[in-house]
Amino acid sequence: MTQIEAIRCPNCGRFGERHHIAESNITRTQCPECDYLLVTCSLTGRVIEAYAPGLSTASIFLHSGLRAKSFPNVNFNTLF
Ligand SMILES: [Zn+2]
Repeated sequence: MTQIEAIRCPNCGRFGERHHIAESNITRTQCPECDYLLVTCSLTGRVIEAYAPGLSTASIFLHSGLRAKSFPNVNFNTLF
């Protein structure tokens, strides 16, 4: 079961979506306006994949299970 929640995009401030995917314990936050993307594990909080076009590190793709605090440019408090 997937729950979809309307959120404000932390990158551009417009409306985006947060998908809570229960089967795979994944939370996916995405914005159709600016291509913002954040995929995290809802159990551990680990970032699986992240992309934010406005950030200085324009593209961040993670596959090694780094935690959110590894990204000082991102205010993750507004994301979770
Ligand atoms: Zn956006």
